[in-house]
Amino acid sequence: MNLLSLLAQALGVVILADFAAGVVHWLEDAYGSEDTPVVGALLIRPNIVHHHCPRYFTRLSWWQSSWDLLLLGALIIGGAAWADLLTWHVWLFVLLSVNANQVHKWSHMSRGEVGPVVAKLQDWRILLTPRQHAVHHTDPKNTYYCPITNLVNPALEALRFWDCLESVIETLTGATHRQDTSNRGEGPAPTWAIEHHRPSPVPATEDLVVAKPDTAR
Ligand SMILES: [Zn+2]
Ligand SMILES: [Zn+2]
Repeated sequence: MNLLSLLAQALGVVILADFAAGVVHWLEDAYGSEDTPVVGALLIRPNIVHHHCPRYFTRLSWWQSSWDLLLLGALIIGGAAWADLLTWHVWLFVLLSVNANQVHKWSHMSRGEVGPVVAKLQDWRILLTPRQHAVHHTDPKNTYYCPITNLVNPALEALRFWDCLESVIETLTGATHRQDTSNRGEGPAPTWAIEHHRPSPVPATEDLVVAKPDTAR
């Protein structure tokens, strides 16, 4: 196998991983409800919080943001091994997919927060850039779902991929893109979604009373 073929295959895996993560993100944003059993609390609520308070998850550790993807990755590796299909392509796909939320998180952090290596990878457009991901966080927040690279989103947008997919689903099932309370005019936001806006815990009432000028000595 020559080097060019290897690189082309690796690029194909990167594109596939970014696309797959984008599809999951789209399903959560477009059709997930916080009341859905199991996934509602585990996946959809954090997603809704992210639209209301985009910086909140930057406070979470890799483990807190990625445990579900790690579990999914382990299942894919186990399934591929069982089917005797465990090639380097599968390992690369899982490595990227497990870190999809971390790469997404970096796109919400400052250069100082991510460090020089990640900042350089963003500068070289190898990882999703804050500028491109900002398109997803612009109302009506219904495109640019892919969270790993800068490659796939513009291509899907040129094809109007998500719009077309939602039209097909609406025709077949009647289901439409759910209301997004973080969009202007689509509120009100649920209180559990906006309470993460607080930069730090609110001081206890006693502390506030002590701090009042008229109670100071
Ligand atoms: Zn989203
Ligand atoms: Zn985001």
